Amino acid sequence: MKALLICEYREGKLLDSSYELAAFADKLGAEKAMVLIGNEAAAPKVNAKVYLADVAKYGEYNPDLHKKIVLEAVKRENPDAIVFLHSSYGWDLAPRVAAALKVGQISEITSIKEGKFEVGICNAKLRRIVTPQTEKTVLTIQSGAFNFPGEPQGKPQIEKIELTDAVSPLEFVGYEPPQKKEVDLAKADVIVSAGRGVGKKENVAIIAALAKALGGELGASRPVVDAGWVEHSRQVGTTGQIVAPKLYVACGISGAIQHVAGMKKSEFVVAINKDKDAPIGEVADVLVVADVMQFVPAFTAKLQK
Ligand SMILES: Cc1cc2nc3c(=O)[nH]c(=O)nc-3n(C[C@H](O)[C@H](O)[C@H](O)COP(=O)(O)OP(=O)(O)OC[C@H]3O[C@@H](n4cnc5c(N)ncnc54)[C@H](O)[C@@H]3O)c2cc1C
Repeated sequence: MKALLICEYREGKLLDSSYELAAFADKLGAEKAMVLIGNEAAAPKVNAKVYLADVAKYGEYNPDLHKKIVLEAVKRENPDAIVFLHSSYGWDLAPRVAAALKVGQISEITSIKEGKFEVGICNAKLRRIVTPQTEKTVLTIQSGAFNFPGEPQGKPQIEKIELTDAVSPLEFVGYEPPQKKEVDLAKADVIVSAGRGVGKKENVAIIAALAKALGGELGASRPVVDAGWVEHSRQVGTTGQIVAPKLYVACGISGAIQHVAGMKKSEFVVAINKDKDAPIGEVADVLVVADVMQFVPAFTAKLQK
């Protein structure tokens, strides 16, 4: 099995998420080669071939040109899988590559089960196992699902790709920074998050009080944000913030994969859930089986004393 991994590069820098691709290939037991469309100084530290195309003069991202470069690398490497991150870059480029190669695409892989791929369905409430049906397959992997262990170390063997036909009707205009976040949860040492289990908007104050008593920040799962109980800047998960505090307290949160992907790097996890079998228990160091509305106010009162 050979995997061609398409690195993520932004404004002159290799994004660390590129190493998640390497972790995925290692877990799959695949021989890996990478593609970097960027400058050589940013090449990933891997002991693998890296196809490098520096096309900065055409702007940092041009889907037509990036597709041509990936297809050229596919021609040279003949991989079984072409792998992207399930990010805005992957969403845009992966289907273009799959369509050009007339091969299947499996999107947002969350884990590998005996060489097959697990993906979410029904708004990620269920999971299913998918097997590629085409000779080659384009894959996208969920951000945060495959962690690269330790510091990357390695010496890439660079093979350059020059663009001969750089014609495209598209022009890269630039990046627009996102609106400034009201809170940067990534910097918090303690996060106490409210999940749907808190029941209603008024109860969020009880979770916020615990966060305050612990000297931390309030976080939230997506349904709590979608319901408008907490602002989006406090959402933890794949479509919120990825956090790694010293202490993470999950209150009434089931432990869906998209939430866990955002907090599993926390040093110590306490979950409070009335269901002793809630999946959050799999990542929690301590699972308190209790009603949050009874346990949290009592615990906060003890801490305040
Ligand atoms: C593309 C995509 C992206 C997503 N991104 C994110 C994301 O970034 N972040 C995120 O969080 N989710 C995300 N989701 C949603 C995710 O799949 C889950 O639906 C969500 O995380 C569930 O939130 P929850 O745990 O708060 O709610 P639920 O899954 O409804 O769980 C509620 C939990 O509370 C417990 N509970 C209920 N009442 C009490 C009580 N009184 N006391 C104690 N426990 C109680 C229940 O036992 C249950 O375990 C995403 C989904 C998709 C499809």
